Amino acid sequence: MAIVVFADHHQGEIKKAALEAIFYASEWATTQQQEVIAVVIGEVPHPSSLENLGQYGAHRVYYVNSSWLNDFDARLYSLVFREILEQLQAQICVLPHDFNGRALAPYLAAQWQAGLLTGVCSLPESDGSFQKQVFSGKALAWMHVHTARKVITLLPNTFSVKQQDRKATVENWQPSQVKADQRKIRVKELRTTQGRVPLSEASIIVSGGRGLKGPENWGMIEELAKVLGAATACSRPVADAGWRPHHEHVGQTGLTVRPNLYIAIGISGAIQHLAGVNGSKYIVVINKDPEAPFFQAADYGIVGDAFEVVPRLIEAVKKFKGLS
Ligand SMILES: Cc1cc2nc3c(=O)[nH]c(=O)nc-3n(C[C@H](O)[C@H](O)[C@H](O)COP(=O)(O)OP(=O)(O)OC[C@H]3O[C@@H](n4cnc5c(N)ncnc54)[C@H](O)[C@@H]3O)c2cc1C
Repeated sequence: MAIVVFADHHQGEIKKAALEAIFYASEWATTQQQEVIAVVIGEVPHPSSLENLGQYGAHRVYYVNSSWLNDFDARLYSLVFREILEQLQAQICVLPHDFNGRALAPYLAAQWQAGLLTGVCSLPESDGSFQKQVFSGKALAWMHVHTARKVITLLPNTFSVKQQDRKATVENWQPSQVKADQRKIRVKELRTTQGRVPLSEASIIVSGGRGLKGPENWGMIEELAKVLGAATACSRPVADAGWRPHHEHVGQTGLTVRPNLYIAIGISGAIQHLAGVNGSKYIVVINKDPEAPFFQAADYGIVGDAFEVVPRLIEAVKKFKGLS
């Protein structure tokens, strides 16, 4: 028996959340004496590099190298997965709880007639329950899936990955029941930003709020992000005002992020903002108001004017990194 994992990738680079899902599956598999099969769909530039998924706990990699599957399509991918799962007679499928994983999981659960549990943050407990954050991360719930077949999505950054010295076997796999003419979605054009860390993958995020007064002051946020190798984010009013693009907006109605370090600058720390960032490992808050609610959630805080603190922080990081 096998636990099957969706090893989602971007142009051949397996996403961090998917590596965590593979490691999670391997921890689960050891208690069940099962093997872990990572499924990579769509062409990758260097297929032999997929053997490195063994370092994260995969025993085998099913490489579905059909060009017509290069663009993510939740409906089509769910059919491919169903075929793999049925062929392997597997009972468990693990996906990362990111954009694609969240889109694919319900399709797959419906196609494969499985129970679905999304956003878990623990391995199954002794009674078979899984922990899951509820009420915007304010509480934990223990949930059971009563079906034998289970589709589970793993919340990113809840499992620290430990790499091991192992290589996976890479096998080319082609669907026999799913055909290219079943494709309904065609991507006409893809626009990507160059040289930026994607927010959902970032381990450090520098985020700005209304305290920065206007879009003209974002230069220092971008510079701090650049010297730290971080992604930039913002509060909702900042995106609503058009100071920053909406894809940077984090919080209850925006993205949920779980970086190792979240630096909040000129953000008050409203509950709706915290809902999207309170899973961060460390939170640093820079705010001129010592009563700002964000300080309650902070691991480190600087009470001060962002326009004085941030340039000094940039200089300090540059000096520390030998960049100045
Ligand atoms: C249904 C609903 C959903 C929402 N969803 C979201 C969401 O997803 N994400 C989100 O962010 N918000 C969301 N909001 C809005 C949220 O309630 C807050 O209004 C918002 O987060 C406040 O943004 P802010 O902290 O940038 O601005 P403000 O509340 O205006 O705070 C600005 C902060 O900057 C500080 N400041 C000012 N000048 C300086 C300076 N020179 N140096 C340092 N600090 C300074 C101030 O002390 C203040 O704390 C939602 C609201 C509702 C009702």
